[in-house]
Amino acid sequence: MIFVMFIFMILNFTYNFRDYGIKNIDNKAVVLAKTIEHSLTNQMLNDVIDKREIFLKQLEDLPNINKIWLTRQQKVIELYGNGLNNQTIKDEIDKRVLNTGISEKHLNESLFSNSTYRITIPYKATSTGAIDCMACHTNAKEGDTLGAISIIFPIDDVKQTGITTIINTTIIALVLIIAIGFLINYLISPFLMLFDSIKKVMGKAQNGDYSKRIEPSKNKEAQDVSLWINVLLEKLQTALDNIDSKISIFLSAEETKTKDPLINAENIIDRISAIYKFRKTIEHDEEIGDIYKRLAFIIKSNLNVENINILEANTKNGKLNYVYVDKKDFCDIKNVACRADKTNEIVDSSQFEDICTSCKVKDSNYLCIPYSISNDLDLIISIYPNNSSEIPALRENINFIKDYVEASKTVIISYKLMEILKENAITDPLTKLYNRKHLEDQMPKITAQANRASISFGILMLDIDHFKMVNDTYGHDIGDIAIKRIATTLKENTRNSDIIVRFGGEEFLVLLYNCKEENLIETSEKIRIEFSQQKIPAGDDIISKTISIGTSMFPQDNKDLLKCIKYSDTALYEAKNTGRNKTVRYTNILNKKETN
Ligand code: GH3
Ligand code: MG
Ligand code: MG
Repeated sequence: MIFVMFIFMILNFTYNFRDYGIKNIDNKAVVLAKTIEHSLTNQMLNDVIDKREIFLKQLEDLPNINKIWLTRQQKVIELYGNGLNNQTIKDEIDKRVLNTGISEKHLNESLFSNSTYRITIPYKATSTGAIDCMACHTNAKEGDTLGAISIIFPIDDVKQTGITTIINTTIIALVLIIAIGFLINYLISPFLMLFDSIKKVMGKAQNGDYSKRIEPSKNKEAQDVSLWINVLLEKLQTALDNIDSKISIFLSAEETKTKDPLINAENIIDRISAIYKFRKTIEHDEEIGDIYKRLAFIIKSNLNVENINILEANTKNGKLNYVYVDKKDFCDIKNVACRADKTNEIVDSSQFEDICTSCKVKDSNYLCIPYSISNDLDLIISIYPNNSSEIPALRENINFIKDYVEASKTVIISYKLMEILKENAITDPLTKLYNRKHLEDQMPKITAQANRASISFGILMLDIDHFKMVNDTYGHDIGDIAIKRIATTLKENTRNSDIIVRFGGEEFLVLLYNCKEENLIETSEKIRIEFSQQKIPAGDDIISKTISIGTSMFPQDNKDLLKCIKYSDTALYEAKNTGRNKTVRYTNILNKKETN
């Protein structure tokens, strides 16, 4: 573009210079023509017109004039003849100028040979000037062309000067342009190179490659910019590498990675923050059931399945316990072992027909995954897709569940420990029956149930007869066996809704839920007789023991539960005093007293 402009500039300069030269000659020619006209007229007036040829001859000797001649109009010839040197029409130009009265200019230009400029100017008849032309040219009218003067100028000097000027100007302009070009290039090229390098590096970064760096520059500003960008890229790459190598190890799920580590880092952080949020939420859940509900929700919503079951598996006693259920009666875990629990492997219904014999639903789809929570607790998560074709995709996302199970682990364990602590606080370690603290805790609830729902409780207070003797004769271990045996007898002869409490050393209290008067003695006697028939191994011997039982009814005997318990204790005392191995109803003691 600069080159084209340069050419235009030179052409414009050339044209203007030529134009200026021609105008200059033009002016000179007009001045000369006028001077000659005035001279001739003066000569005419001074009557020395016959000397004009000398004058014209002298004119031709003027420097920078090639040729000069006069042409007379026919009317002038008619009056004064052809004049000296035959001033008749010489060529077409003379003819035209005499006819039209308009001056003509002709340029005879040639680059390599001589160039000339010809101008032909008409002389017009006028009566208004200093001289009245019509005074002598009597046959002429105002404005008629009386003659013309033609002058031919050599313009080689002007041409030469022009060419030299143009060449010089061109050289200077070229040198200037080249110098400016070099200067611009020197100032701008570092920034262009920087820009080019930034473009390349950012193009790579756009595609996830942050390892490329901006090339160093000699220019201070460009060097600063490249340094800042490089430091930024370095920090970014280190941070991304760290996220990938140090943070992603907390996740099991290998998410499908993109080519861009920045997007991968964002995904990793998203997942970790989601897991962290989940973890923080479950830490504040009041019950362990809420944790399992939340875990189930996360699994279902993320894996896009509708039904899952979660089981707790106690690895110590082999017991399985449903903690979250969408599909009821799907497995027969009471009778057939859970395959995932037994093998500690993923069980996938698409792998083999009827792979798990515990499954009760024929041709069903399931994916059961075991997770170890602690030494004695596993979780089995069973996922039930609608179609077997969904199973491969689910298997790919198994590690996603693992991340959430891992996050729940410590919370589940702490809840389990809390449960154990709570359990220990209210149970007796020898018999695993409730202790007195639990009874005290439950008393307000039992009283409320009795008052609100009119539910009666039968109360049995039991004590082994002559138990000291067992300890004394066979030792404490045998005594403990006897205590455990009565605990078993009590469990076997009561319902889950009943509450059995180890009240003292070998003294037990049973609260029979929703018990009627007629069932009270019946249950008591059943327990008493059953225990008396027990054969307790005592070293080389086998012994049998009896128990005495005192009974009362709550709230029939008294609206105060504590008093009712005391009544049963009074009845027990009565049983002991009246021969042992018997059941005594508290009200019977009162009746007896009344009859006495
Ligand atoms: P009674 O027929 O009057 O009830 O006579 P008894 O010998 O059973 O007397 P008592 O009920 O007062 O006996 C309590 C004994 O039970 C005292 C204690 O040595 C024993 N005992 C209490 N707790 C335990 C225990 O945990 N293990 C063993 N082996 N003995 C216990
Ligand atoms: Mg006793
Ligand atoms: Mg006792």
